[in-house]
Amino acid sequence: MKQGKIPVWLSGTLVVGAFALLRLLERGRPLRREVEPKLRRNARNLAVAGLAAASFQLVERPLIQPLTTLVERRRWGLVKLVRLPTWLEVTLAVVLMDYTLYLWHVLLHRLPFLWRFHVAHHVDLDLDASTALRFHAGELAISTGWRAGQLVLIGVSPLALSVWQTFLLLSALFHHSNVRLPVEVERKLNRVLVTPRMHGIHHSIVEEETNSNWSSGLTVWDWLHGTLRLNVLQDRITIGVPAYREPEEVRLVEVLKMPFVAQRPTWVLPGGGEPRRRLCTVAANQLLP
Ligand SMILES: [Zn+2]
Repeated sequence: MKQGKIPVWLSGTLVVGAFALLRLLERGRPLRREVEPKLRRNARNLAVAGLAAASFQLVERPLIQPLTTLVERRRWGLVKLVRLPTWLEVTLAVVLMDYTLYLWHVLLHRLPFLWRFHVAHHVDLDLDASTALRFHAGELAISTGWRAGQLVLIGVSPLALSVWQTFLLLSALFHHSNVRLPVEVERKLNRVLVTPRMHGIHHSIVEEETNSNWSSGLTVWDWLHGTLRLNVLQDRITIGVPAYREPEEVRLVEVLKMPFVAQRPTWVLPGGGEPRRRLCTVAANQLLP
């Protein structure tokens, strides 16, 4: 059974359905005011996403798919140390994948070479479900090495991999979306899952705010590492990075070239100076509207 996996038609339907639903909600209940025309931005993000998907198919997939089969056959990895029921083994593997993705996300921000690629995701001047798919093709290719390490160390079966991939895609679409949930509902959800207000803070132009909320599925990793920050009002957030504030600087070609050209100091505004964090007297773990 663990050699089996979620059928592509099912995960595909879930992802496309979630995207369509979030788009509808974004139109009816937007969380943040948008600065660029939505259609133009979405078309650009989907073009970046198309190249990322091609990179995934060409580089990552041919390696990780057979690797999970091998992991399963040889019983490599932490979750294979004892024999567990399939549901428990898959759950554990997904949780550990989620944690090690948190670590990878921290590295993407902390290591200058990786930031060159990840910045292409962060320069989007708005944040919505389409941003969830907008990663530089190079970032996906480079992450293949990390992914292979995750699979072998954790012991990820083909089934667990397909569950994690589907969970990650749905989670990313949701927490990047520009949907205004009732704040009470979001507070409850946020105890377990990364939500739109929480991830909006990670996309702020204020460096200290970006350097928080690195989780991409479960909130617990930020909580455990002390990197959880929820006390920022959404209407005070400016999305993006300080170095690129103009729509002409983040067009498709500019975004694709970004890792390969001279890097601007990310956290300095074009006119000099850094955006300041708003002083907040509310505890960091309190989700503000
Ligand atoms: Zn990030």
